[in-house]
Amino acid sequence: MNAFQEFYSKTYPDRWKELERALLRESEKSVRDCFGGHANYVMDQASIRAGLALGVRPGDLVLDLCAAPGGKSLILAEALEGRGSLTANELSSQRRRRLKEVISTHVPGNLQSLILVTGFDGNQFGLRKKESYDRVLLDAPCSSERHQMEADPSMTEWKESRSRQLSQRQYSLICSALLSLKPGGTLLYSTCSISPFENDGVIERLLTRKGDQVRLDPETGDLTDLEKSPFGFRIFPDRSGGSGPIFLSRLLRT
Ligand code: SAM
Repeated sequence: MNAFQEFYSKTYPDRWKELERALLRESEKSVRDCFGGHANYVMDQASIRAGLALGVRPGDLVLDLCAAPGGKSLILAEALEGRGSLTANELSSQRRRRLKEVISTHVPGNLQSLILVTGFDGNQFGLRKKESYDRVLLDAPCSSERHQMEADPSMTEWKESRSRQLSQRQYSLICSALLSLKPGGTLLYSTCSISPFENDGVIERLLTRKGDQVRLDPETGDLTDLEKSPFGFRIFPDRSGGSGPIFLSRLLRT
């Protein structure tokens, strides 16, 4: 057994074999009709769920902190119904080019003026744009095990320390996301990782350290069909019919 196998068979003792098999299968994608049939975008069902879970309403000021290639940005922009704004931020210039392309080919021309593409380090938003947004999506850079397993099914290079390092980066980004939210605003944290450090671990740390500023959203009526985890919800392919993995957690700035 290598380090990856050993770690995840302990983390998910009752389901690891099924989960591993499901992660190795090609993921279930579906075509999403965007903007009333204006364009189609191929996306994983679980990613669509994460985008919708932010609950964007017409007129909201929305930030997508880590936006490329942009599938979730399309969902957020569509939910604005022509009112409000979306700032779609992406640090990597190469990935930002792809994000701009996705927006220009999928968003109808008359709605493109609602979207601003920026290229800051997401860690700066908390200071540069304090208390500015009604809703923030942090779809964080993560271990993306399913993607990594496509190249190396045995995950021979996997190290627990790498996932712990990523969780530090995610924690720093979520603190910035929180500061950029208006009081009362909604934060949706998501990853496509199965790592407990990068999922529940980040949220637990946030609630422990900043519990005076943030709490879990108690209204989870729209998420009840999802698998509950200690601080959020999982859509993992062994139990979702093939989509995911996605972890999501919805929080409110108090
Ligand atoms: N939300 C996207 C979608 O649905 O298409 C996927 C986002 S992907 C999981 C994470 C993105 O965060 C990557 O494109 C990565 O380049 C970007 N990123 C990494 N570090 C960042 C940072 N410090 N600030 C902003 N973006 C960052």
